[in-house]
Amino acid sequence: MRVLIADDDQISRTVVKAQLSKWGYEVVEAIDGEQAWQVLQEEDSPRLVIIDWMMPGLDGLELCRRLRESGDKSYHYIILLTSRDSKDDTIGGLNAGADDYITKPYFAQELEVRLRAGARILNLQQSLEKALEVQRYQAQHDSLTGILNHREILKVLENELIRSERQRSSMAVIMGDLDHFKKVNDTYGHVTGDAVLIEVAERLRKSIRLYDTVGRYGGEEFLLVLPGCTKDEAVMIGHRILGSIASEPVQYQDYYIPVTISIGLAFNKTGAHTDLGEIVQAADTAMYQAKQNGRNRLELAV
Ligand SMILES: [Mg+2]
Repeated sequence: MRVLIADDDQISRTVVKAQLSKWGYEVVEAIDGEQAWQVLQEEDSPRLVIIDWMMPGLDGLELCRRLRESGDKSYHYIILLTSRDSKDDTIGGLNAGADDYITKPYFAQELEVRLRAGARILNLQQSLEKALEVQRYQAQHDSLTGILNHREILKVLENELIRSERQRSSMAVIMGDLDHFKKVNDTYGHVTGDAVLIEVAERLRKSIRLYDTVGRYGGEEFLLVLPGCTKDEAVMIGHRILGSIASEPVQYQDYYIPVTISIGLAFNKTGAHTDLGEIVQAADTAMYQAKQNGRNRLELAV
C-alpha cells in the first residue's frame, strides 16, 4: 500500500520513510502542506496519509479540514503526527478530520500498528466500494444478455428526451420484438431460447451507433434509444437491424435457428416536450403494425 508523508522536516521524513519501507509500504513524500494538498487531489493519490501538524503555509490541521471539506470521494485515512501532546491538541486534531493521532517522539511499533489499523479500514472500504459497484451494475443490466434492463433503458430514454428537447434535436426510439419466439422455446427448449436472446442482443449492439443504447424491454422485446437521429438515419439503422438479425441463423450447439424481428420506429417532437409513455406506445403500436404486415420488417409511427 502507498503512504503519503507530509512533513517539512527532512530528517523526520527520512526516518519515517525508512521505517515505512521496511514494513513494506511504498512512500510518497511531500515537503509541505501545499505539496501534500496537490498530491491528495490526484485521482490515484495514496489513501493512507501521515501528516505533520506544524508546517509552514498550509499546516496539518488545515490540510485535514480542507481534505474533508472537499468531499474526499475516495476516502483518505489520516494520521496526524506531531510533538503537540495536550488533550486539547488531540481533540483539535481529530476534530479537524484526522482519523488518528500520534505524538512525537513515538515508538516505531506504535506507528506500525496504527498504520496497519488504517490500512485495514481502507481495505474494508475498498471492498465495500467494489461490492457496491457490482450491485449497481447488476441493478442496471439484464442478467441474461448483459444489456440494460427495462428500468434502466427507460431512464436513458427519459434523459435523452429531456436533452433533445433542450437542444431542439431530433431523436428516435425503436421497439423490436422477435418473431414467433415462443416457437423457438417450444421447439428447441428454453436454454436454446436464451442463447438466441443473447445472440440477438449482441447483433443489436453491433448494429447501432456508439451513442445509441439498447435495452431488454421485456421477454423478447428490445428498446433502442437513438439520440440526435433524423428519420432517414433511424430508418437506415432499422434496416441494418433487420438485416443483421435475419441474415444468418443463430447457431447454438447443433441447431441453426432462423430468427427475424419486427420493428416499430417512433420520433420525438423536435423542440417540444415529448411524453415518455407516448413515444414508447407509438413505437410499440408501429411494431404491432409490422407484425400484421408480415413480420421481419419495420413500420414508422404515424
Ligand atoms: Mg513540522
